[in-house]
Amino acid sequence: MEHYSGSQKNKNKSEQNFRFLKSLGQNFLQDEKVIFKILDGSEIGPEDLVIEVGPGAGALTVEAAKRAGKLIAVELDKRLIPVLNAALINCGNAEIINGDILKTDIASLIRDNRMGGKVRIIGNLPYYITTPIIMKFLEEGEGVDTITVMMQKEVADRLTAAPGTKECGAITLQTGYFAEVRRICDVPKEAFVPMPKVESAVLRLDVLKDAPVDVPDRKFLFDVIKAGFTLRRKTLRNSLMTLGGFTKDQIEDALKESGIDPVRRGETLSLEEYAELSRKLTEIRNR
Ligand code: SAM
Repeated sequence: MEHYSGSQKNKNKSEQNFRFLKSLGQNFLQDEKVIFKILDGSEIGPEDLVIEVGPGAGALTVEAAKRAGKLIAVELDKRLIPVLNAALINCGNAEIINGDILKTDIASLIRDNRMGGKVRIIGNLPYYITTPIIMKFLEEGEGVDTITVMMQKEVADRLTAAPGTKECGAITLQTGYFAEVRRICDVPKEAFVPMPKVESAVLRLDVLKDAPVDVPDRKFLFDVIKAGFTLRRKTLRNSLMTLGGFTKDQIEDALKESGIDPVRRGETLSLEEYAELSRKLTEIRNR
């Protein structure tokens, strides 16, 4: 646990005495330029519903509320609720929920609060749950338009990786199924208090209205992708055996019928190739 540094002298008394919890990923943004990069990158409009993950002491929150039609911020640490309420005293369109974002019913939050505009997710994420948060919004956030969030650079590199590169993982293709991903900026450690151990980056995900590939069962497609990445140094033929429920011959047939060389590595396949493979495997299983 650490305390606000002396340079935070413009913070109020309760903030100055705040003890950061590493276990909650509490690295607060103190660089205004970065704060504006997230807000500008999100393109919040006056009719938009903004959902902020982990507002902390409100570095992004007040300005986001000024730009939005409605802002809902979900913060797990109850010690921060009075700080946030004080910061948002003049923002009648802002609501703070003291809760766990991973347990929040995002779909009803959106249904009950959306206005005429877009639904935008923003945040400087708690890094210990970056991937589950992003996947939750993508999988359950019916109606979400954009997700503009700070994360550890290593995860940002994965989400923006090209097929075949060492950064490309199952999560790269899963994210690509739902959204177009682009990097807004890289962020140095010095932008935070306390300073994290890792570098950071802001990404914007524009959620696709239609899936880029057509498969009967998204969960099975994701299982095939995960299997493809399970044994990174092995050929696809071997990696896909970890799927279970298929014989070696069935895997060989599916690869052949999909026009994919069985000695390729899982990380070199595109989303379209995985989609074709999952369709063929389903067909073969039902023969
Ligand atoms: N937005 C603030 C800023 O940039 O200064 C704080 C960002 S800090 C990296 C992450 C915030 O997420 C912390 O305030 C932390 O308490 C909160 N948090 C951690 N786990 C959470 C969870 N499961 N649900 C909601 N908020 C969470």
